[in-house]
Amino acid sequence: MREQIVEKVKNAGVVGAGGAGFPTHVKINAEVDTVLVNGASCEPLLMSDPYIMEHELDVMIEGLQAVLDATGAKRGVICIKGKHKKAVSTIKEAVAKDTTGRLEFFELKDFYPAGDEQVLVREVTGRTVPEAGIPLQVGVVVSNTESLYNIANAMKEIPLTERYVTVTGEIAQDMVVKVPVGTIVSDLLAFAGGAKISDYRVVDGGPMVGRVLPDTDQPVTKTTSGLIVLDPEHNVVKGKIKDPEAIKRMTGSICCQCTQCTELCPRHLLGHAIQPHKLMRSLSSLVKDPEAVKTALLCCECGACEKFACPMGLSPREVNAMIRKELMKEGIRWSGNGEEPENHPMRETRYIPTKRLMQRLDILKYDTHPGMPEETFVPERVAIPLAQHIGAPATCLVKEGDRVKKGDFIGEIPEKALGARIHASIDGVVTSTEGGVVKISRG
Ligand code: SF4
Ligand code: SF4
Repeated sequence: MREQIVEKVKNAGVVGAGGAGFPTHVKINAEVDTVLVNGASCEPLLMSDPYIMEHELDVMIEGLQAVLDATGAKRGVICIKGKHKKAVSTIKEAVAKDTTGRLEFFELKDFYPAGDEQVLVREVTGRTVPEAGIPLQVGVVVSNTESLYNIANAMKEIPLTERYVTVTGEIAQDMVVKVPVGTIVSDLLAFAGGAKISDYRVVDGGPMVGRVLPDTDQPVTKTTSGLIVLDPEHNVVKGKIKDPEAIKRMTGSICCQCTQCTELCPRHLLGHAIQPHKLMRSLSSLVKDPEAVKTALLCCECGACEKFACPMGLSPREVNAMIRKELMKEGIRWSGNGEEPENHPMRETRYIPTKRLMQRLDILKYDTHPGMPEETFVPERVAIPLAQHIGAPATCLVKEGDRVKKGDFIGEIPEKALGARIHASIDGVVTSTEGGVVKISRG
């Protein structure tokens, strides 16, 4: 049964909807005892997960059952924060009605980063993923809510052509909206009534790990969970556009080695060797510590250190990222012992409350829990990148002038490579395939 499910998921081009886009057919081709549904909606403001849990739970559960069948897992645990009361009661009802005996519900505390895969595994199962490891090593597959929704569709041979996006911030009508993959950001913002301010920047993803888009001509991809419209001077935007040289200078001159960044680092608290304050010290070049430098490979880039912990406004995450890039270039990898580490004794007293984090980020005013718009969003054009996932870009199967229908297969995984298939997301004519992007216009 596993092969058939994996094949259908591969055909549908499903990738992890909540992270960097790891191809799902590879992830579920495994044997585990537990599947966790990650509905933590970890990033503040992003509401697609609770929305799907409230409105499309049956479909999501079909996807979960398929993953349980594929992996042979006996437990499928649906995890969501207690604050999403409507979703919680819908899930509890569904679990009570489940006749397979495999479904469970887990209420997460409202802290950041509750949705980090490794933190989630620890919270729900009590197991700790080894350093630089993956949940599979402790018998767990973690799947995002929307990925499971897409897997359910894949079982019905419906490819991934749409995604739920939260549009929020300085926008006329904030919303959770289902859009074709490849939708141009400016078209979606116009559908949401436009920005409320004349000068703005758009963050693709959440305020913690999202990136500032260079312009609004960018497409929504399979991994775009949210678009946040903000003033260019907003903390969230400014914190994401930093000059690496300035970061290095500031690190060297003002890091006071208070260790706050380490004390609140979720990976350090899981017992992993990372201690960001030591990385900051290494960068200042006063103390060279090659072993500490290597621990940059253990950072998950959650940003808790820079956005919440550091009293000096420094960026241990950026410093880690710079060091990691250098280490990867040199081919240096983390060689852990593969054993479950012992958690920090204070771990459970060091959760970062989401509300305090939002206050710190100055985004509480955007925390409005929007719903779907009444009208359906129907764009006239899309631009579908052939690289929207971890692995090799898909090989283009269409050319300019081809007429395509929604769901048509337009990008194939290169032979023997890790990747994901790509499908047309609207009916129309291919107007360009340049630059690894398939543009389709309805006209
Ligand atoms: S971003 Fe900072 S807090 Fe998060 S894992 Fe990396 S060092 Fe730790
Ligand atoms: S919290 Fe900031 S000042 Fe303190 S050690 Fe970390 S980077 Fe340095």
